[in-house]
Amino acid sequence: MPHRDPNNDKVLIDPDKCTGCLNCQLICSLVYADSFNPARARIMIGGSQDKREIHFTEECTACKLCIEHCVYGTLEAIEEAV
Ligand code: SF4
Ligand code: SF4
Repeated sequence: MPHRDPNNDKVLIDPDKCTGCLNCQLICSLVYADSFNPARARIMIGGSQDKREIHFTEECTACKLCIEHCVYGTLEAIEEAV
């Protein structure tokens, strides 16, 4: 079931589409922690292969880089109404 996370409410998360590739964590940790280290990313990919759980940490800046690097459609930007 797609859901939002309070630490980044500009993203609609659909865990059922997540393959666990960790591209999102790699780009986030590269940019914000200067290393390819998923543990230092501001998006957390947990759960099991059958039931993924995805959340953002309080440090998330909502920069959307992880969205751009997820090729499976798990992360979708929520456009603000104007
Ligand atoms: S890039 Fe997308 S599919 Fe890969 S782990 Fe992150 S959310 Fe899941
Ligand atoms: S929105 Fe930016 S800071 Fe937040 S998890 Fe994604 S890449 Fe990291």
